[in-house]
Amino acid sequence: MKDSESVGGMHNPAGQKAPRRLRGWALAAILLALAGSGISVVAAARTADNAAQRSRSAFRLTAEQAKASLGLEVQRDADLLSGAAAFMQETPGFHPAAFRRWVADTRAVARYPELIALATTEPTPHANACPRTTLAGKPAIVRYEAVAQQAICHGKGVVALSPLDPKIVDFGLSLGGVHFLGASIAVYRTPTPPGTAAGRRRAFIGWATIAIDPATLLREARRHLTGVGVALTTRIDDRLTFAAGPRAHNAVSTTRLANGVTETVTGTVQGESILADSSAVASLAGGIAVSVLLALTLFLLGTGRARAMRIVADKTDELAFQALHDALTGLANRALVMDRISHALARCGRGGPPVAVLFVDLDGFKNVNDTFGHSAGDELLRTVGERLGGLLRASDTVGRIGGDEFVIVLEPEGNGTSPELVARRVLTALAQPITLPGEFEVRLTASIGIASGCQVDTEELLRDADLALYAAKRAGKSRYVVFEAAMQTAIADRLGLELDLGRALDHNEFHLVYQPTFRLDDLRVSTVEALLRWQHPTRGLVAPDVFIPIAEESGLILEIGHWVAAQACVQAAAWRARGLDVAIAINVSSRQLAEPGFVQEVAEILEEAGLEPAALTLEITETSLVREPKRVSARLHELRELGVRIAVDDFGTGYSSLAYLRELPVDVLKIDRSFISGPASSDESAALVNTLVALGRTLQIETLGEGIEDASQLRRLLDANCEFGQGFLLARPQPAKQIEALLVASAARRNPVKPSEDSIPAS
Ligand code: C2E
Ligand code: MG
Ligand code: MG
Repeated sequence: MKDSESVGGMHNPAGQKAPRRLRGWALAAILLALAGSGISVVAAARTADNAAQRSRSAFRLTAEQAKASLGLEVQRDADLLSGAAAFMQETPGFHPAAFRRWVADTRAVARYPELIALATTEPTPHANACPRTTLAGKPAIVRYEAVAQQAICHGKGVVALSPLDPKIVDFGLSLGGVHFLGASIAVYRTPTPPGTAAGRRRAFIGWATIAIDPATLLREARRHLTGVGVALTTRIDDRLTFAAGPRAHNAVSTTRLANGVTETVTGTVQGESILADSSAVASLAGGIAVSVLLALTLFLLGTGRARAMRIVADKTDELAFQALHDALTGLANRALVMDRISHALARCGRGGPPVAVLFVDLDGFKNVNDTFGHSAGDELLRTVGERLGGLLRASDTVGRIGGDEFVIVLEPEGNGTSPELVARRVLTALAQPITLPGEFEVRLTASIGIASGCQVDTEELLRDADLALYAAKRAGKSRYVVFEAAMQTAIADRLGLELDLGRALDHNEFHLVYQPTFRLDDLRVSTVEALLRWQHPTRGLVAPDVFIPIAEESGLILEIGHWVAAQACVQAAAWRARGLDVAIAINVSSRQLAEPGFVQEVAEILEEAGLEPAALTLEITETSLVREPKRVSARLHELRELGVRIAVDDFGTGYSSLAYLRELPVDVLKIDRSFISGPASSDESAALVNTLVALGRTLQIETLGEGIEDASQLRRLLDANCEFGQGFLLARPQPAKQIEALLVASAARRNPVKPSEDSIPAS
């Protein structure tokens, strides 16, 4: 790690270029899609426009066709009327009956489906009299005959029913619900109408009239046309409009036909809008789809590499984070903490203030783990991490570097809060209760070691903080201690000892010495206590008071204790095999007692050594009895089941209650040396010894005075009726061989009558 920024900020050139490239390709793709879509719109508009034009010209063509075919129909009808007029003119002495015959002969009714009637109307001698009309046509028309006649008679709807007008006139007429379209022509005897009115009156024969069914006419005219409506409006009455075909339309073509009839052709032409033309819509949709696909293809092809780079960059960031952070709490891990410390130290070396490191260790975290389970322990660590993080400035670092070990690095910023202040805040913050899953509330304390410096290296600073932490733990936990140079030698010494202790078993550096305990009435040996000795290769003999606490803290005591028990039991069994009636006592630490398999372990050791359980006494200090009363009580009862004896060692130092003692399966109380030979061996403690002995008697527990160094102390114990005693006055701890001699002597004292027979073969 060369640069802290490279750690925190994850500077990554690929990671920065990649999004820029990605944006470039996205822009190109969007432009392509837009251009393609634009072209599609223009093309679709063209298509729609062409379609509209085609539609309009198609309509015009259809309208022309409609006009032509209608004109043709009308022309046919006009020809028929002209034929009728010619017949009237050319028939000398014209008579209506002859007209009827002519109509029949021409088969006009069959040939002209639209024909309703052909009529002749003759003038009457009196100007005001109704002219006589002869009607010929379809039988259906007959019932309209009277009506038609009347209409013609009264000139209803007839425009110019006058012999003076030589032209064909047409009319539209609605009679009794039947619509007619008609025309009349004035017929004269001369081939051309006379030039004067008097001449025309003289030459006038009558009117020839045709009545046509407009619906049929229009149907005929529309026979080959589709999609258009055709309407005819007469000149006379534009309300009288005859129409056929669809009404809905958006295009109109109007033509004046001959004789004042207006033809209107209506139809639907396509609009110019793109949406009006399905093929335009289809081409637009297709065009846009193709453009988008092309754009997408461009983007994917273009960004394939960019995306791959991005993924790599993301993964790199992720891995870098994982490599430098604690998975459980998300705090910095050891590597990152070390990196931060070394950078802070580098800044400090350039003239900045010293760097402070706080080593925080939770007190009794193992208990939480054991009692509530590991997931609760994890939750607790997360909460602690959050609380610690909440206390610090952004520039500071908090990391987790081990199970329940946290490190805080205070960056040197000049205005820096003192590390002691931060430590006090940490203690306060952690003292707040923490609720674990399952609503369990726990209260934590922590021990903190503080070290600060400038001209040190990272490892050194962290180790100093660790040493201060160790001092805080030893001073009773739940506090902070600032590192001092003196600690280093003391603790380094201890750490060295711990290291050596780990190797001592393998190097056969341990051995046992034995100190007998005696019946005070006859001074015979009752039990022999095994005491551990460590012959250190350079330090010489190390006292158990020095190394036993280290072994307990480091957990080495489990292995060592096993070795002691096995060794002592084998020795006791050997003595007993030689006929020496001796029991053995071993010291058991609270760590051993707490082990779930401890009772089983003792049973196996006894079994292997071939020692009966009653010959073994386990000495447990009073302080470890009171530490976890429930568990200890259960464990002692199991041991009692096994048949071993139990002694309470150093009794009087642990403040155990009488009631509690009563509950326990205790066989011996070993009254602490301080009451016998120590500085507290005053009259007051003599009184206490009396009380303790009396208490033992009440509870039926044997009492033993420890540390008897002179006769007066022995006297006092005898006076107090104490049954057993141990001390330098009676016997010092000695190697097995010397003890054996002592045991033999003791046995001889028990059997003064036959010492030689009972003498033990020398080992
Ligand atoms: P303890 O179990 O109370 O053992 C008695 C200690 O008092 C021994 O010290 C012994 O030498 C000392 N002593 C006996 N008589 C006198 C006397 O008249 N005057 C004085 N001043 N001292 C006397 P030691 O052997 O140094 O052991 C110290 C402690 O270390 C033991 O106290 C015991 O608690 C522990 N220990 C020794 N061996 C073992 C072991 O194998 N396992 C465990 N867990 N603890 C052990
Ligand atoms: Mg002892
Ligand atoms: Mg003792």
